[in-house]
Amino acid sequence: MIVLNLKEKSIKEAFINLKKQSGTHSPSISTLQDLIPEIKIKIDACFLSNPYATDLFFDYFNEDLLKTNQIYNILEYYPSQNQYISSVLSKQLNVPNKNVFVGNGATEIIQAVIHNLVKEKIIVNIPTFSSYYEFALNEIEVEYFKLLKDNNFVLNVQEYISYVNSTKPGAVVIINPNNPDGGYINYDDMIEIIQNLDSQILIIVDESFIHFSYEDSTCNYKSLNEIQKEYSNLIIIKSMSKDFGIAGIRVGYAIMNHKYVSKLLDNGFLWNSNGIAEYFINTYTQTDFQNKYLKIREKYIKDTIYFFDKLKLFKNFKIYPSKANFILLELIDGSKDIDLVFKLLINYGIYTRVGSDKIGLDGEFVRIASRRRSENESIITALKEIFEESD
Ligand SMILES: *Cc1c(COP(=O)(O)O)cnc(C)c1O
Repeated sequence: MIVLNLKEKSIKEAFINLKKQSGTHSPSISTLQDLIPEIKIKIDACFLSNPYATDLFFDYFNEDLLKTNQIYNILEYYPSQNQYISSVLSKQLNVPNKNVFVGNGATEIIQAVIHNLVKEKIIVNIPTFSSYYEFALNEIEVEYFKLLKDNNFVLNVQEYISYVNSTKPGAVVIINPNNPDGGYINYDDMIEIIQNLDSQILIIVDESFIHFSYEDSTCNYKSLNEIQKEYSNLIIIKSMSKDFGIAGIRVGYAIMNHKYVSKLLDNGFLWNSNGIAEYFINTYTQTDFQNKYLKIREKYIKDTIYFFDKLKLFKNFKIYPSKANFILLELIDGSKDIDLVFKLLINYGIYTRVGSDKIGLDGEFVRIASRRRSENESIITALKEIFEESD
């Protein structure tokens, strides 16, 4: 079991206070380092992004905007309006423009959808990404469908369908792969769910981590984007922050019935993407960028599988099946989640996330993101040291 020494305990208090102030999200690295100078973060395994994708985009950004000083124009002028940016994106996604809504990050879209399109009751699977219930207004009732630890947080498709149809909510949310456990519902099961839920129910599917998933040994993934047109009650929400490692510029989109897109646009959102986000979308639609991205996506998935395989060998914790770029581990040696997170942070500069503030996670859980291969190696080494010392 992990035990903290006195110095570690005193810094831990400051850390816990800071965490409380960030609500259900984690404090950012810069906030942490400003307020607790003892903390020197070397590896951010709290944030769930593909670091190789950030490198790739930065190369383009550097060549196109910095070296040429084009960045000056981006800073000076207005970006394009929402519908122009969505028209660029729609071609890449192979979806009609009228069905695409671009957001200032997926968070803005989640808020817009919940405030404008969801009626009466929403069913959210737990554990989950907190925005889906936090943005629900007073008049919207949130009901939780619990994914069971004993069933590895796997969604039981038939049980889910009959539960939802008998509860008759205005909307449901499925995050696939799910955050925080990485649980994946394969494409055929998703279709089964969509086909069998009452068509009056709005089905919100968050595919923010879909690029990390794969259906077969060739690493191919399957998004619901192209079938949205067959189901007017289906809304697909996608953050670009994680798959493309660009959380700082705020890009996300949704694919939904054109009436919903119009309804949202009637409420504003004219210039909700900034110039750098617009530049990202332009870059994203280039074949050259796509080809390079697909290669590093595959490399990252392979690194991630390798990392998870090593984590499986530890006896102090159990890990849950994940097809995302992060994994949930449950401490089973009596250690507290916060103590492991804290040891990693203070002694190794490795930032991870506790699970105890997540609704529906009962136990001592820590979520760890896969980073670069060398960083993953450092995480494994740190875990070995921490648990050798504790035994
Ligand atoms: C991070 C996250 C988001 C929000 O992403 P942004 O585009 O950065 O706002 C949405 N959904 C899920 C499931 C996430 O994990």
